[in-house]
Amino acid sequence: MPKRTPLAENFETIVLDRPLPAVLRITLNRPDARNAQDPRMLYELNDAFDIGARDEEIKVIILAANGPHFSAGHDLRVTDGVAQMEQYDPVSTWCGFSCKGAEGRYSIEKEMYLGFCERWRNHSKVTIAQVQGKVIAGGLMLVWPCDLVIAAEDAQFCDNTVAMGVCGAEFFNHIYEVGVRKAKEMLFTAEFLSAQDAWRLGMVNHVVKLEDLESATLALAEKIARKPAFALKMAKEACNAGQDAQGRANQMQTSFALHQLTHAHNNLLFNMPIDPSGIMSPAVAAGSRYAKKDE
Ligand code: ZN
Repeated sequence: MPKRTPLAENFETIVLDRPLPAVLRITLNRPDARNAQDPRMLYELNDAFDIGARDEEIKVIILAANGPHFSAGHDLRVTDGVAQMEQYDPVSTWCGFSCKGAEGRYSIEKEMYLGFCERWRNHSKVTIAQVQGKVIAGGLMLVWPCDLVIAAEDAQFCDNTVAMGVCGAEFFNHIYEVGVRKAKEMLFTAEFLSAQDAWRLGMVNHVVKLEDLESATLALAEKIARKPAFALKMAKEACNAGQDAQGRANQMQTSFALHQLTHAHNNLLFNMPIDPSGIMSPAVAAGSRYAKKDE
C-alpha cells in the first residue's frame, strides 16, 4: 500500500503557514460559516496536525481562526457525514462508519470527535490555541486539546448541548478546564463564559487585546520554541499523564457513553440525535450559526 502523505495544498477549510521556522500555524478558514466544523475540516485539521508531528523542525503548533469567531462548533447542517468521512482514511480501528443505529453514531463520534480530540491532546509538539470571538460546544473541542490558550478580550466560551438534549460536548473536559462547579453552570445554563472568567478559572493562559492576539501568540510560541524539543515533549507527557492518573481518561469514557445514551434517547423520541426543540432555543441561537450574521 502506498504511503499516504497529507498534502497541505489540498486543504479547503484550513490554511497552513510557517510564521517562524519552528512554528506551524493552522488557521480555520470557513469564516462565513463561523468556522463550523464539517468532516472535511476535521480530517484536514487532523492531517495538518500530522504534518506538524512529522516535521522535526517544528516545535510549536498554533491553532488560529479567520473571521470574527473562532468556531461555532460542529456543522449541524451536514447530513451526509458518513459519505464525507468515507473520503478519508480513518484514524481509529472502530469500524467502517456505515453501520446503523446507535453503533453508527457511536462509531462516527468515537472517530471524528473524541478520537481526534484525544489524538491532538496527546500530540508530540506544543500546541497553542489563539482564540477570538465565540467558541461554542464543538468549538471547545478544538481549544481544549491544546496545551495553552491565548484569548482575545472578546472571546466567549459556551457549551449549549444540554439545551439540545445532549449531556455535554463529546470531549468532556469541562471539569478539568473550569472546575466542577463552573462546569455544571456552563452545562445547565448554556451561558457564555467570558475570556476574563476563563482566565480566572485557569482555562486560559493569557487575555490580550484583539489587535495583539496574533503577536502575543507568536511571542509565546517563539519563547517556547527556544527550548529543547525532547524536553518539551516529555514535560507535556508528564502533565498529561498526571491528569490521566487523576482519572481523566476513565471519566472521558464514561461521559462519552452517557453522551451516546442521550443521542439514542433523542433518536427514539425525535428520530434525530438531538432534541429539535433546542435548536432554536434562545440559549442555542444566541451564539450559533442560526443567529444573525452581524452579531
Ligand atoms: Zn454527539
